Amino acid sequence: MTHEVTHDQNGRPRIDTGVPHSARVYDYWLGGSSNFAADRAMGQAVEQAIPGIKTMALENRRFLGRAVRYMAEAGIRQFLDIGTGIPADGDTGSVTAIVAPDARVVCVDNDPIVQEHARTTLTGPDAERTLYLEADLRKPAELLRSPQLAGALDLDRPVGLLLVAILMLVADDEDPWTVVRTLLDAMPSGSLVAISHPTADFDPAAMGHVVQAAQQGHMTLVPRDRAACTRFFEGWEMAEPGLVPVMSWRPDGEPPADPHSAYYWAGVARKP
Ligand code: SAH
Repeated sequence: MTHEVTHDQNGRPRIDTGVPHSARVYDYWLGGSSNFAADRAMGQAVEQAIPGIKTMALENRRFLGRAVRYMAEAGIRQFLDIGTGIPADGDTGSVTAIVAPDARVVCVDNDPIVQEHARTTLTGPDAERTLYLEADLRKPAELLRSPQLAGALDLDRPVGLLLVAILMLVADDEDPWTVVRTLLDAMPSGSLVAISHPTADFDPAAMGHVVQAAQQGHMTLVPRDRAACTRFFEGWEMAEPGLVPVMSWRPDGEPPADPHSAYYWAGVARKP
């Protein structure tokens, strides 16, 4: 694809394909087609430091799929996916299309390129039952007050909330625990939350390289230990098998040979 810039109604550039965007770099690691030369260059630079980065991104996406399926099997028919990323195979929209085609899905992302890709790629019934909202996780009260969100979700019925590979982008001084608490408190009883979070617990040196690569790209990326991740779920009942390495969360088929090779904690919990 060639370099292009689109503008919003005020003439401000919304999308510049000449600079790397984390959502498109992530798309590149997942083998998607919504990425450009600048995104691939950054993705490859990180890959040189951490050869397993593509596998890690994929394992995290697979957890998202298993968690959505678990929620659908528990009867959840409305999903709130915060930090959705670019529409792609294996995401919340595509998994619900198979396991719960009658479900509503609200996708929240603060990167305008996500809306832009959704606008051009989503069609038919999937477009009708899916709402893409441009909003910031760090302002949860604002998000919950959004009339669009209220129009799409019934907060008197259980919600499947997904916070998958996003909380590491919120620094400690922005208090991700209070952010998550505000969201969880707004959910009715019977709701489920899925969280995955990068950690230095499994391989401190490798995670150190990831943090360094992020810093060079002027990105916040905070790995957190098991205790810090456990605090996100406070007051909710952990579903089996609890907070575990992402590959060990209800794997399809054989248990993974080396569950510590993808450096994320992951778990699902239910509001009593
Ligand atoms: N949840 C998906 C994608 C994770 S990539 C998965 O696990 O596969 C993280 C996404 O979160 C990116 O698309 C990025 O644009 C978005 N994001 C980052 N900070 C955000 C914020 N403060 N509010 C909303 N979205 C955010």
